[in-house]
Amino acid sequence: MSRICDEVQANLPAYVERTLSPLRRNLIALHLRRCRACQAEFSLQRELHEGLQSLASTEGTPPEGLLEVLLDNSNSPRGAAPLRGAVSGAKPAYSVALLLAGAASAAGAGYASWLSAKHLRRRLTK
Ligand SMILES: [Zn+2]
Repeated sequence: MSRICDEVQANLPAYVERTLSPLRRNLIALHLRRCRACQAEFSLQRELHEGLQSLASTEGTPPEGLLEVLLDNSNSPRGAAPLRGAVSGAKPAYSVALLLAGAASAAGAGYASWLSAKHLRRRLTK
């Protein structure tokens, strides 16, 4: 990965939050147009940003609300289908634990990259 990519990706969180200056925004938009690696990172950051926003919009009862959504998914045929084979015969609570673990690790990976990008950005702006 080039140095430009490092810098672009460090700025992606601010890019999706639209807190960058117009000049930086344009530079990143130009780079995204021709760099697949940064495009991939951008779509991850955008998904993460949207995910965080939807969590923020359920302010007040985030963990309970999230748990209910996951429980609903585990009861619906669509959500349970991939898991049912993997944990056939397992107790429902166990499948839910697996669902939660999967959701947490997926969100965790994105969050970790967001954190490191944020840290990097802070160092660059100092
Ligand atoms: Zn790039």
